[in-house]
Amino acid sequence: MSSYIDHLECTVCGKSYPHEQLIGISPCCEKVLFARYDLAKLGREVDRDSLSSRTDSMWRYAELLPVDDPGNIVTLGEGGTPLIKSRNLAQKLGMRNQFIKDEGLNPTGTFKARGISAAVSKAVELKVDGFTMPSAGNAAGAAAAYGARSGMETKVFMPQDAPDANKKETLVAGSELNLVAGLINDAGREAVAVAKEIGFFDLSTLKEPYRAEGKKSMGLEMVQQLGWKMPDAVIYPTGGGTGIIGMYKGFKELLELGWIEGKQPKFISVQADGCQPIVRAFDSGAATSELWENATTKADGLRVPHPFADYLILEAIRETGGTALAVSDDEMIAAMYEMATAEGIFPAPEGAGTLVGLKKLLEQKFLDPDESVVLFNTGSGYKYLDLITGP
Ligand SMILES: *Cc1c(COP(=O)(O)O)cnc(C)c1O
Repeated sequence: MSSYIDHLECTVCGKSYPHEQLIGISPCCEKVLFARYDLAKLGREVDRDSLSSRTDSMWRYAELLPVDDPGNIVTLGEGGTPLIKSRNLAQKLGMRNQFIKDEGLNPTGTFKARGISAAVSKAVELKVDGFTMPSAGNAAGAAAAYGARSGMETKVFMPQDAPDANKKETLVAGSELNLVAGLINDAGREAVAVAKEIGFFDLSTLKEPYRAEGKKSMGLEMVQQLGWKMPDAVIYPTGGGTGIIGMYKGFKELLELGWIEGKQPKFISVQADGCQPIVRAFDSGAATSELWENATTKADGLRVPHPFADYLILEAIRETGGTALAVSDDEMIAAMYEMATAEGIFPAPEGAGTLVGLKKLLEQKFLDPDESVVLFNTGSGYKYLDLITGP
C-alpha cells in the first residue's frame, strides 16, 4: 500500500519534473504542477474492491496519493466523511437522489484538512524545514494543526479581517500568526517572500502540487460511497478551486484505471456575489479570470478574488457541461438554517451556498429533479457561530 506517483507535470506545457524534490509551481510556465501516477501499473497490481476493507480515512487511497513511505504520513484522521442521503430537503425539492457530502466532520472542521495532510506529509518526506501558509480562513487552522503534528515550524499569513475562529485556532496550535493588510492575494505575496528567504515550503493553494491530491480524495470517496458510480452533478463552493480541480483530476484517473465508467458529473461552482471571478469568466467565455475588485463575503473560504488556477477550474466546469453561479451572503446564511433544520447538518456558509445554488438551478431547469446531485458541505457551521443570531 504505497504511492504509484511517477512524476510532476506542468498543466500548461506538459513538461515533467521529478517528484523527489520539493517544487511549488512549474519552473517552465510558472503555473500549476500536477502529480502523475503510473496508472497502468496500478491497474495491474491493485484491485479496486480491496480498498473497502481499509481504514476509513483518505489514506485508504494511498496508491493515488503522493507519499511514498507510509511512515511519513502526517494524519489526524482526515477523510472518511459520510455521504448523507438527503431526506427532507430532497422531498421538499422533489428530488430522489440528492446527497450531502459532509466535510465538516474533518479534523479542524473543514475539508482543508485533506489537502494540508497530503502536502505536509509529502513535504516531510522531502525533508522540509518548515511551512508558510497564506489563508483567508480555514486553511490557516489546518496548516497550524498539521504543522504542529509534524513537529515543524509553521508561519501563517492572514488578512487582518480574517475570522477570529481561524486566528485563534492558529495561535492555539502554536503557529506564528502574521496579520497582513489587504486580502488573501496580499497575504500570499508575503508568505512566498518569507518562504523563499528562509527556505520553508509554501502551502499556498495550487502553488504546490499536493493539496489538490488530498482534496481529490473527496471525489474518490464519493464515488466509492455511491457504489463506484459518479453522480450527475456536483455542486461545490469555489474559492481557490482545489476541490473541483482535484476531483475532476481524480475522476479522470479512476476512468483511466477502469475503476469507474461513464461521464464525469457536471461540476457546478457556487461563488459569493461579492467575489465571483469564476462566474464572470465562465459567463463571458474567457479561459482565465480577472481580479475581482473589493471582494467581500462572510463566506471567507470564497473570498479569493483572483484564483491562481482559474484556467483549471474553468476547464473542469466547461468540459463536464457544468456551470457557475453566484449567491448572496444572506441567502447562504438562510440556507445554513434550512440545511440544519431539514437534515440536522449545520453547514458552513460556503456549504450552505450549494443548497441555494441547487434551488436556483432547479428553478432555471438547468438541473432536473431526477438527476443525482451531490452538495459539498465543505465545513462545519461551528466555525461560523458569529453568523447565527443568538437566543
Ligand atoms: C477553502 C474553502 C472553500 C473553497 O475551497 P476551494 O477548494 O479552494 O475552492 C470552500 N468552503 C470552505 C469552508 C473553505 O474553507
